[in-house]
This record gives sequence, C-alpha cells and structure tokens, in this order.
Amino acid sequence: MDISYIINHLGEDNASYFNAIAPPIIQTSNFSFSTVDDLRNAFADEMGGYLYSRGLNPTVDILRKKLAALDGAEDALVFNNGAAAVFAGVLANVKAGDHILSVHHPYSWTAHLFDKLLPRFGITVTYADGANTSEFLSHIQPNTTFIYLESPNSWWLDIQDLSAIAIVAKEKGIITMVDNTYCTPLYQRPIDMGIDIVMQTATKYIGGHSDTLGGVLCGSLAMMRKIFLSEYLCVGSGIQPFNAWLLLRGLRTLPSRLDRISASTQKVLEYIKTEPRIESFIFPLDPSYPQFELAQKQMSGACGLISFYMNAQRIEEIELFCNSLKAFRMAVSWGGHESLIIPKCAGLNPADFDPANSTHRLIRLYIGLEDPEFLLNDLKQAFAMS
Ligand SMILES: *Cc1c(COP(=O)(O)O)cnc(C)c1O
Repeated sequence: MDISYIINHLGEDNASYFNAIAPPIIQTSNFSFSTVDDLRNAFADEMGGYLYSRGLNPTVDILRKKLAALDGAEDALVFNNGAAAVFAGVLANVKAGDHILSVHHPYSWTAHLFDKLLPRFGITVTYADGANTSEFLSHIQPNTTFIYLESPNSWWLDIQDLSAIAIVAKEKGIITMVDNTYCTPLYQRPIDMGIDIVMQTATKYIGGHSDTLGGVLCGSLAMMRKIFLSEYLCVGSGIQPFNAWLLLRGLRTLPSRLDRISASTQKVLEYIKTEPRIESFIFPLDPSYPQFELAQKQMSGACGLISFYMNAQRIEEIELFCNSLKAFRMAVSWGGHESLIIPKCAGLNPADFDPANSTHRLIRLYIGLEDPEFLLNDLKQAFAMS
C-alpha cells in the first residue's frame, strides 16, 4: 500500500464528520445503545464495536488502521506509552515456568519488567548479545517461549538479524517481538521478515513534537485480539483520544521529518569524523559499523541517533562539553523537533568515573529538525570550550 495513501487517507471517512479534513477527537468515555439486544452484542465482543473507551474509540481506530498498514500488519493496538505496549505484548505471551530470551541492553523499563516483575511470577529471562545469530540462539532452552529483540537499540545501536532469528523461532514455536522504535516502519518492516509482534514507541518519531506519549503493537488479527481482550482492557493502558489525535497529526509529516533528519544526520556524521575530541562513533548505516552489511540488508534508512565516545580523561571535560551546548538540549527521549544530547555519565556517581571504561565516555546525540549548520556551529563551540 502506498505510504502517502496510508498517511493521508486510510481509515478516514470525512463525509461522516462534515467533510472536515482533520478527524474529530471523539472525547467520550462511553457509547449508548437503543436496545438491550444491541448492548448484549456489544458485551459479547468488545472488539466488535464501540462500548467503552478503555476498549475501542473511533479516533484511536483511525490511528490503528494507519499504523497497522505502515507495518504491513493485519492489526495494531495503540497504548498510552511505549512501556505499556512492551508490558502488554510480553505479558500476553508468557506464563509461569516460561523462559524468555532477550537481546542484551534492552530499553531500561523493558529490562525492569524482565529483571524485577516477571521473576515474581516464575518467568526467567536470559540476556544475550544478538550480534552473532547462532550464538544468540544457542541460549534457547526447552522452556523458551518468547524471544525479545530491539534492533537497533537506543545507546549502542546494536542490531540483530531479524529474518534469521524469526525462521528458527517459528520452527520451535517461539513467539518473537521486536522494539522497532529507532527505524519506525518507514525504515524497517519486521513483519515482512517473519517477526510476530512489532512494537514502537509513538512518543518518538510518530508523535514527532515532544508533546505526547504513545506506544504501538502490530501483528496478526489473532495476536492483537488476544492482547486486546486481556492485557489491553485489564491494565487499561490504551491511548486517550486526544493523544491519539496528536499522533495522527504527527504521522502526517513523518516521511518528510525522517527525510530531513536523515540529511542532517549525514552532515553531522561528516563533522564527527573530523572532530579530534571524538574517539569513535556508532551509526548503523556507516561503513565503520561492525554489522554494516546486515544493517543495509534489513534497514532502508537510519537517522537521528548517533552515539560517540568522547576523548576525555576527566568527567569534567564531558560535563563542560554538554553544559556548553545551546542548540542541543539535554534531555531524555528523542524523535521530536528538537536536537538533544545525553551523556552516559549522567547516570554515574562522578567519583566512579573511569576513563578506561569507554561506556563512561559514551554520549548520545539526537539530530532534530533544526538547520544542520545551526547544530554544527553549536557542537564546534562546545568542543572548543571543553
Ligand atoms: C522511549 C523508548 C521506549 C519507551 O517508550 P515510552 O513511550 O517512553 O514509554 C521503549 N523503547 C525504546 C527503544 C525507547 O526509545
């Protein structure tokens, strides 16, 4: 399906709302029925129609249709944030006694789910490096029922061979899920590669304006129905109509924002390669990336996030560089209009800083929508200060 059609037309029925171009925000908690029989039918299948906005809501449904189509999936569910989408996707598919194989360094709250919550219910998790597929798959145990991937992940931009892992998982009846936030469906389509559940944080590129959170799961009709009728309704973590409307608005400009960010990212990379204060950098579609070939094979684009190791003997040098930036703001998250910086050492007691530990010198840049010259000038002046 054409991306422009999906983003601009699919799921919209303008004639039913006064030919308004922007769809209405159906800000209602409940929906009424004229007969007991109609109400009975609604109770019988909450995914079959509108009953109560903890379940389905018409504004959210427009977004669901577009996001499912972008991923090439049969259906999608939209959550209040990305962490809620991860929680529901995992919880719906594991039970006591099961084992999960996860790629190492997943998103922090995904790790919290695996390390703190699931063990309380008798579910075990093994983390493994996903760079070498056969080594990764060697951690499958007889009770492994779920494989969790994040490709690329958000600090080291590690990737996994999604097709190769999906083939083995399918043979063994193991469900696969991938966090596809970095690429969005525009740059990577895991459903086409055989992955069962694709998650993305709509807070990042789909929203694109740093003004709402959201999370997405895409997959088969049966999988989405299973999650909807249990975790989605029970936890009550579905997105609210207004936030869904903001995500619809963000989605309109997703392709042009990613184009712009991709072009600016290339300019920043050119500069980074010449900056003596940068020891090395990580970017999946650069020839220096260890899995460049795989990245080229399974990703049609990459942009925004660049991680680099700063040459620094003292934590003060890194702090001075970060504190001196004016165009880049210091904040968590990414995917919005604004360029950002976050140093790993912000999570460190300064007394523990060890320049020999490269992770302590790791810094993540997010390139936003500003003029790239504005950003480059800022990086240059901040390095000059440090
Ligand atoms: C931000 C992020 C999440 C969590 O999304 P929220 O909307 O903040 O809950 C999950 N995975 C990745 C890769 C992220 O960057």
